[in-house]
Amino acid sequence: QKFVYFFAAGDSEGNAGMKNILGGKGANLAEMTSLGIPVPPGFTISTEICAHFYEAGGKLPDWVRPAVQESMNKVESKIGKKFGDVNNPLLVSVRSGARASMPGMMDTILNLGLNDQTVEGLAKSSNNPRFAWDSYRRFIQMYSDVVMGMNSSLLEVTLEDMKEEKHYKLDTEMTVDDLKLLVKKFKDLVHQMTGQSFPADPWEQLWGAISAVFHSWNTPRAITYRELHSIPAAWGTAVNVQSMVFGNMGDDSATGVAFTRNPSTGEKAFYGEFLINAQGEDVVAGIRTPQPITKIAAAAAGVMSLEEALPQAYGQLVEIYKKLEGHYRDMQDIEFTIERGVLWMLQTRNGKRTAAAALKIACDMIDEKLITQDEAILRLDPSSLDQLLHPTLDPKAAKTTLAKGLPASPGGVNGQIVFTSEEAVEWREQGKKVILVRIETSPEDIAGMVAAQGILTTRGGMTSHAAVVARGMGKCCVAGCGDIEVDYRNETMKVKGYVLKKGDVITLDGSTGEVYLGEVKTIEPKLDGNFERIMKIADGIRRLKVRTNADTPKDAQTARNFGAEGIGLCRTEHMFFGADRIDAVREMIIADNKMDREKALAKLLPMQREDFYQLFKIMDGLPVTIRLLDPPLHEFVPHTDEETKELAKRLNTDYERLRSKVKSLHEFNPMLGHRGCRLAITYPEIYQMQVRAIAEAAAQLMAEGKTLAPEIMIPLVATDKELDTLRGQAVAEVNKVQSEKNVKFEYTVGTMIELPRAAITADAIAEHADFFSFGTNDLTQTTLGLSRDDSGRFLGTYVSHGILPKDPFMSIDQVGVGSLVKMGVDLGRRTKPDLKVGVCGEHGGDPESIEFFHKVGLDYVSCSPFRVPIARLAAARAAL
Ligand code: ADP
Ligand code: MG
Ligand code: MG
Repeated sequence: QKFVYFFAAGDSEGNAGMKNILGGKGANLAEMTSLGIPVPPGFTISTEICAHFYEAGGKLPDWVRPAVQESMNKVESKIGKKFGDVNNPLLVSVRSGARASMPGMMDTILNLGLNDQTVEGLAKSSNNPRFAWDSYRRFIQMYSDVVMGMNSSLLEVTLEDMKEEKHYKLDTEMTVDDLKLLVKKFKDLVHQMTGQSFPADPWEQLWGAISAVFHSWNTPRAITYRELHSIPAAWGTAVNVQSMVFGNMGDDSATGVAFTRNPSTGEKAFYGEFLINAQGEDVVAGIRTPQPITKIAAAAAGVMSLEEALPQAYGQLVEIYKKLEGHYRDMQDIEFTIERGVLWMLQTRNGKRTAAAALKIACDMIDEKLITQDEAILRLDPSSLDQLLHPTLDPKAAKTTLAKGLPASPGGVNGQIVFTSEEAVEWREQGKKVILVRIETSPEDIAGMVAAQGILTTRGGMTSHAAVVARGMGKCCVAGCGDIEVDYRNETMKVKGYVLKKGDVITLDGSTGEVYLGEVKTIEPKLDGNFERIMKIADGIRRLKVRTNADTPKDAQTARNFGAEGIGLCRTEHMFFGADRIDAVREMIIADNKMDREKALAKLLPMQREDFYQLFKIMDGLPVTIRLLDPPLHEFVPHTDEETKELAKRLNTDYERLRSKVKSLHEFNPMLGHRGCRLAITYPEIYQMQVRAIAEAAAQLMAEGKTLAPEIMIPLVATDKELDTLRGQAVAEVNKVQSEKNVKFEYTVGTMIELPRAAITADAIAEHADFFSFGTNDLTQTTLGLSRDDSGRFLGTYVSHGILPKDPFMSIDQVGVGSLVKMGVDLGRRTKPDLKVGVCGEHGGDPESIEFFHKVGLDYVSCSPFRVPIARLAAARAAL
């Protein structure tokens, strides 16, 4: 079985299509040699060996060695140097390279093959002793760090001490004798610290380095990176062993990195940096300040460009980058080295870029006829659009991390911490910026959440109240940050030895879940023509319609601006929390009899009518789905004695009576209790009022000559009988209003499918429904028997142990919950072939779930306003 692949000009065994076994770096090195681009010869040990390495307990199996030795011989004959030869030694680099690029996450070792003898050979054969000894000291630094596990700062300090002693500013000022002394000091230090002598045998060095690269696949930072980017651990890394070329041979040598286009703006301009007389990571490491490659950019910085310093190599580089971009048809991130005026390419890959750059590059490449519109859509990551819609933290700013929670709602914000919603509102009114810190939030916190810049909770998951509401508002939120201990009584939060008091400043990064101490600078988003253009292209491709979840005129307007094609979910209960009406809601709840209840409801009617009127008007003829009251009533009543007393006073009623009434609403499991349509089965007058408000608002708009398409939606239906009953009542009420006002308008009555029984009996339910809307949040809860408010504690473990592939509240569980959705669609349409079907759970804004919803034939998805553009793009990708 083959597991070592050779690469050299015109003689490569791999190509760009072999990333799975060669890793991205190895595959592209081979591909470049086939394009006639100069690449130092070498070979790639396949990713499959990584698994064998770990199976053997973290050791390189012996049977791998002969093939490596054979390939090394081949490199030797290509170059005309010998590995370990004392006169003309071949030096190599040992480089990691996984299938997906993980920049800087794993280890690389340069100048391998040097020892006290070969260094002399290198000095002579290159006629450059300074370079030889500089390479040697670099090798010891890298090898002792990466392979021998020594703290590299010790050697770094020794080097700095020497420079200081000699009054040098730059590494390049060190003389041959300095470097020789440094090498000796380094080797002594290595012996002292590790108890081992620095290996002199090049082959021993090589096996050590190969093992170290395989090991680096499982360092904590690599593991974290993989988790963040959903890269499976099983992929493994390849190892590239490549003959060295040297950028540290003098002033006609250099090393650099570049992007074929600007990765942060997307501008079509060659963009990169280099250093003369330097090697490898010097450019990124910040030892010396690198210089811009192009004349224009360098002039702006008042320094010399590569274009001027090494014009010939520069010219070659320009040709190569154009060739690479033309070949890969994407922006490339390249690494190169110039040895005595000769250019060598060391890496190319599709460059990472910001969302704004991705859009610009996609549009430009369509115009350049490099890619088609479909390809452009397939290349864009819908989730990354988030970056464009919210202010983000300045990536260049210095930061101190306090903790990491869930990236619940993106954006970068800072403010003073407060622990109650009331205070958030008060402080905001005083013109302060606040971050609302809560153990968890409840609907009562809405005002505080609106007032806050961002929300931080220590409990709850991606669909916790805080997360859902924050996303809906387009507000930054970090949820479930368990490392932070909130002490409401003392108004402090403790984390990592810090005790932060009310008023202290923190910064949240809602895109990563990170919480930082103090204020971190942010940058504002801009939506440009490229964004609009890509959205238009996406709209032309997708079949799924995209609606929004909105219950305020502001959200509705935002969503329309983002291209929403209607409201898929208006949660009427959010309207009940308004300061002007919450007491009327409470009066209705504690009423002893139908008459009192109707009296309270009568107060709510005009307010609800106005709410609906506004939404219909903004949506201007687009469908608006209004869900009738859903949550259990106890959510609306006060929870402390204090508040209850005050309410009793306001409502002019007896405190004890009120208290026992509130108590009687207690439920052991409210999510499965008296809520949804069950409320209306027992108190029909609640839905009756809401339906009347809808109908009267509709009548008013009709009278004004406007168009509208109201959809009345009944939640938490388990049986067709429930829907039959409630639909009948709703239709009767609408008819009544229509004849009272003497107008007719079109409307539909449908239901949410959010209980397994509803999905299973969808054919019977469809008899009474004009449409279905899958409430996949509740359907996930009830199908998995998993409370979304309590699962935060263990779901993380489930995902990290691979028991669940993903948080099922974030991305729909296609096998389980998804089957019920499919069944619901199929059964529903068996009864009514043109039944309109959508989804309004949080999954409606998740790209992977959207792909699934496209496949099972839904008509639309509905998501929070700020996810509308993401859903439009994801729906287009699903259709391709
Ligand atoms: P990473 O994956 O972290 O980018 P690389 O394997 O690309 O690590 O190595 C980092 C740098 O080391 C390269 O950008 C290049 O400058 C230098 N390097 C690697 N191999 C060689 C080589 N054979 N000759 C010269 N420089 C090399
Ligand atoms: Mg690299
Ligand atoms: Mg629900």
